[in-house]
Amino acid sequence: MKPSGRIPTIAIVGGGFTGAAVAFHLAGRTSAGSLRIELVEPREAIGAGLAYSATDPAHRINVPAAKMSLIPEEPSHFADWLGRTGALQDDPAAISADGSAFPQRRVFGRYVADALQGLLDSGRIIHRRDRVGAIGRTARGFVVSTDAGPGFSADVVVLAATHPRPAIPPALAHLANADQFITDVYAPAALSGVRSSDRVLIVGNGLTSADIVASLDARGHAGRIVALSRHGLRSMGHPPVPVPARGDFSRSPERKAGALLSRIRGELTAAAAAGETWHSVLDAVRD
Ligand SMILES: Cc1cc2nc3c(=O)[nH]c(=O)nc-3n(C[C@H](O)[C@H](O)[C@H](O)COP(=O)(O)OP(=O)(O)OC[C@H]3O[C@@H](n4cnc5c(N)ncnc54)[C@H](O)[C@@H]3O)c2cc1C
Repeated sequence: MKPSGRIPTIAIVGGGFTGAAVAFHLAGRTSAGSLRIELVEPREAIGAGLAYSATDPAHRINVPAAKMSLIPEEPSHFADWLGRTGALQDDPAAISADGSAFPQRRVFGRYVADALQGLLDSGRIIHRRDRVGAIGRTARGFVVSTDAGPGFSADVVVLAATHPRPAIPPALAHLANADQFITDVYAPAALSGVRSSDRVLIVGNGLTSADIVASLDARGHAGRIVALSRHGLRSMGHPPVPVPARGDFSRSPERKAGALLSRIRGELTAAAAAGETWHSVLDAVRD
């Protein structure tokens, strides 16, 4: 509490995984009544964001469940939740050849929402179902303006809005209203107009592209699919057998992206010299 007796407020802009995790850990490390946690998120679900709002069952997490946890000190937190809730009971395809679990992404969203539910019910975290339009500086902190509400004051603001909404690249703007030009693949029934023999061009070749291929494949698509990327690269797979993480990026963490990148590149060079693949280093970055 501030010397004035006022309870400080922290505003978190965006309630996807990042915003949900910040709110969850802040609530866990502070006592009730000592901090007001305002989480501004237009979606109904907290914790889902872009990636874990996916409704298509073909959209799965791309990291084994055992490596995805809301609580870093409890790496098996998500895997334990899966076991407790029986969330994989009707989904045998979630288990890969080496026994790792790759649940549907919406299941991870449900897990995060479940972890926060008690804190939302008790008012420790306040979900403002709204969109932040502007943030202004005041003598004492910030004023956060939202689309629907009157706005509110905050002592600290955390930006967790991350993925921008899908936008049409300028070079393709003239196609905006063209038939069969799909601009948001996560919109309901976005791919329903694609016939099984259609030739499909995917602009971009990252995780969203992988989702489109998975969706088309699940629908029995037979036509040619071509994905374009500036560097000709595509997402790379997991190692055939799990490898131990290499490097420690959390001890004396870097504060600048460029410095972190150099450190990662240094570890990648050392891994290659030792005959190891990049997977071990990227796993350590996640940790
Ligand atoms: C297709 C895809 C698949 C992925 N799969 C995985 C995976 O399997 N495993 C993994 O570890 N990572 C995965 N990722 C990476 C994943 O996105 C991140 O791990 C993480 O979910 C990012 O969460 P976030 O909260 O930072 O961002 P987002 O998910 O983008 O959430 C941001 C939130 O902010 C809200 N928001 C935006 N603007 C405003 C505003 N003005 N006011 C208020 N709220 C706002 C949005 O509604 C949204 O809910 C994937 C990413 C993509 C794109």
